[in-house]
Parts: sequence; structure tokens; C-alpha cells
Amino acid sequence: MRPIHAVIFDLDDTLYAEKTYTFSGYRAVAQAHADILGDADKAFRRMCELFDSPNRARVFNVMLEEVGHHDAENTIMKMVETFRNHPPTIELYPEAAAVLKALRPDYKLGIISDGFLVAQQNKVASLQVDSKVDEVVLTDALGREFWKPHHRAFELIADKLQVSHEACTYIADNLAKDFVAPNALGWTSIHIDRPDGIHRANPAPSGGHPAHEITSLAKLPELLLNLA
Ligand SMILES: [Mg+2]
Repeated sequence: MRPIHAVIFDLDDTLYAEKTYTFSGYRAVAQAHADILGDADKAFRRMCELFDSPNRARVFNVMLEEVGHHDAENTIMKMVETFRNHPPTIELYPEAAAVLKALRPDYKLGIISDGFLVAQQNKVASLQVDSKVDEVVLTDALGREFWKPHHRAFELIADKLQVSHEACTYIADNLAKDFVAPNALGWTSIHIDRPDGIHRANPAPSGGHPAHEITSLAKLPELLLNLA
């Protein structure tokens, strides 16, 4: 057994619901491209429907097909740009806000998050998480090749927080990529498995299985104490 001194969180679908970001982006796209998509409220509702359909990866394509728009490739690029750059309306899970506050006096806290830099920066700003943790590392600021499962962000944050790898834990939702690096470095890994998680069906690659699993962040303080 070893005491945990630093608790590092993933952001999307760990501290807030990623789907709420996606829907916030749809709202921005519907409003910015109403000249093509028509009534913004209607277009927004249709995009939300498509998200919960087999067309989730083709929402903008289907929207343009449905209005008979022809310059689709160019327009989709503009819609993606609107989506990625929009200032989102999102909120921390209530238990995430509570757990960050509860752990702050006893642990060094951090966030490691993948995703396009401006989008992740906008999420951090909207959630105001930089004031709730000690360090935020956005992997895209290091370069696209340093997104998880690359080790670099994990090495960097341990260094910034001045803790050994053995004293770190990582809490995240996506088995496909989140735990390969922290496991290899000797961190403790904790999977947060929520029923509404977008990535919950992803299988873990070799070396990517978490050491522990919880279904709510409310269970985290107790688990950390049991690990000590
Ligand atoms: Mg995530």
C-alpha cells in the first residue's frame, strides 16, 4: 500500500458530462449557420436527435443532406470550426465540484485532458476548474502526438506538482486510452464508469486496465483513504 499525494483527473465525462458540451456546440452551430440550416431551434433539436442515432458521427453531413445543401465539404469545415471555437455553456457534475473542494486541503490536484486546444481551453474557462486544481495540462498544447496514451503529460504534471509517480492517481472514463500511460509509470488508476458515459463501451488495450473502478466521484475520498 502507498499513500496517494496527488489526484489527477481527466476532464471530459469525468468532471462534467461530455454530451452537454456536444449539445452546447450544436446550439452554436445551429445559430451561426441558420442561413443554411433554417430555424435554429429546429436545427438544434434535429442535431440532438441525430446524436442519439447511428448517425452520431455524421450529424453535420446529415443536416446538410436534409436541407439539400451542395457545397457540403466546405460548409462542414466551417461548422466544425464553429463547434470547436464556441464558448460552451457547461457545468461540473455536482459531485465533481464537491469532491474537488473536499480533496483540495489534503491532496495536490490536477487535470490532464486531450482534445483540440481551443476547445479544451474554452471548457476549462467555462467550468472555472483552473482555480479548483493546482495544475492543468492540455495535451494538445504539447502537440497532437502527445495526446493520450503518450506518457509526456503524466510525466510533466508529476514534475510540476513535485510528486513521485507512485504517489499519483489518475481518474478517467475512457478505457481505450486513459490508463496505458499512468499504469506504465506506476500511478494508481481509477475508472469512473457512469451510465451516460459516451466512451463507456470502449475496450481497454493491453496495459490499459484500471486498478480500481467507481460509479460516482462521491466514492473517491473513501477509496483514496483505503489506498493509504
Ligand atoms: Mg474523458
